[in-house]
Amino acid sequence: MAAEIISGTKMAREIRGEVARAIEEMTAAGEQIPGLATVLVGEDPASQSYVRMKNRAAREVGIRSRQIDLPDDIPEEELLGWIEGLNADPEIHGILVQLPLPDHIGRGAVLEAVHPGKDVDGFHPVNVGRMAVSDPAALVPCTPQGVVELLVRSGIETRGQNAVVVGRSNIVGRPMGQLLLAENPRGGDATVTVAHLFTRDLAEHTRLADILVVAAGHPGLITADMVKPGAVVIDVGINRVDDSSREKGYRLVGDVAFDEVREVASAITPVPGGVGPMTIAMLLSNTVKAARGLGGPLR
Ligand code: NAD
Repeated sequence: MAAEIISGTKMAREIRGEVARAIEEMTAAGEQIPGLATVLVGEDPASQSYVRMKNRAAREVGIRSRQIDLPDDIPEEELLGWIEGLNADPEIHGILVQLPLPDHIGRGAVLEAVHPGKDVDGFHPVNVGRMAVSDPAALVPCTPQGVVELLVRSGIETRGQNAVVVGRSNIVGRPMGQLLLAENPRGGDATVTVAHLFTRDLAEHTRLADILVVAAGHPGLITADMVKPGAVVIDVGINRVDDSSREKGYRLVGDVAFDEVREVASAITPVPGGVGPMTIAMLLSNTVKAARGLGGPLR
């Protein structure tokens, strides 16, 4: 029987509605309207489009959003100065620096410059550490947090399950493994394996997964023979593949060979329309958390 398709689009809509209601309540209670600043360095079209989407989604739920566009050749010191300004700005509760940054800018220095209480991407070492010890004040990276929400809201039990994460990036795979491992009945308490490029015989691991989360950036990496019958498969990958039948000349696919794996899995996320929309919904939710001071003090 073909797998249930988990719609991230539908679930993200629900979450955006919850965020909008929370902001209405905050406004009615005389609290400050949450403010998000997005910082974009350079003119990379994909980054421009991501930032536009994030700002639009923020405004739709009632977040005040401010986009700061900076030139590609901005000196690192000047960029750090902008971030300092946003750290001190009482109207800004969340700061997002769109990655990747130009080569002459130290990514670590920039991510560390963002105040941890305003770090809605969850990339600051303070938040990485807080998440590692399951501190509720952690601002957690949006994509893995979105995957947890997808699992929980779909009624998928993680406790005691074998979860296999493919990919160990700081943005997705590694925090994903930590969230599934956390002492937390809500999306945690799993037995976790994190596989990566140097894993010997990837299929040997993936076949043990009750829950398989794939974030490798490699189209078609996971085929049906690598999936245990009845497993839940979450595809984080977003890859462009040539497609002359499309106007743009390409289409987006995940890391999972969707058509064949859906015949084996019990539930699966599509690409697009799976994890992607959840990532943006979690950014909005993190901004409200930060504005409420629940991500630690703001200044
Ligand atoms: P990355 O390149 O930083 O990391 C990829 C990871 O996958 C690495 O740890 C690498 O060791 C592992 N890997 C690569 N090829 C592998 C293979 N053949 N076998 C086993 N492991 C392998 O990428 P990332 O930033 O973690 O993103 C991963 C994918 O997720 C990309 O396609 C990216 O576009 C997508 N992504 C989607 C969202 C979303 O919102 N849906 C957000 C972030 C990233």
